[in-house]
Amino acid sequence: MAKRLQEYQKKRDFRTTPEPAGEAGAGRGDAALKFVVQKHAASRLHYDFRLEVDGVLKSWAVPKGPSVNPADKRLAVMTEDHPLEYADFEGSIPEDEYGGGTVIVWDRGTYRPQKADGSEAPMAFSQALEEGHAEFFLEGEKLQGGFVLVNARLGGQAKNWLLIKLKDDYAHPDAALTASRPESVISGRTIEDLS
Ligand code: MN
Repeated sequence: MAKRLQEYQKKRDFRTTPEPAGEAGAGRGDAALKFVVQKHAASRLHYDFRLEVDGVLKSWAVPKGPSVNPADKRLAVMTEDHPLEYADFEGSIPEDEYGGGTVIVWDRGTYRPQKADGSEAPMAFSQALEEGHAEFFLEGEKLQGGFVLVNARLGGQAKNWLLIKLKDDYAHPDAALTASRPESVISGRTIEDLS
């Protein structure tokens, strides 16, 4: 299982960065699946969107952050799997390290896979991701309701997905949560407070 985090571990010097070295888990049985969105002021500000799948956090970098407006299709670039304990990480990565800059936990909670009609998903979520179309329902502090990740292969690149809010009672065409709620759900502090 450790191999699944090889890329994550290879990119980082854990003597220098405060990020967790981590180990891939084996899945957590019936425990609710975690999701986290971390706001990351690296050389380019972005939001890291992570879903717990089979003992690791599948991860996408979303330059504009998630939107609750179904009309917004947000580019989500798949990045390396992260360890589960990364979901609690907030802090400053040294500037000369990979991803140097401040990280806050912008939102977190649980999710469940769902089908297009909103019912429980019939296939394993990992398989839905492999097939490039995975719908899920978030229960976070800021984000709620159905979302979909679609592997749109923008520019011919397999890593380029889209993150889109599904139309449901939790969709808000006028809301921009990244602007109105910039703070950490752990500390209440913003990136600016910490930088
Ligand atoms: Mn990042």
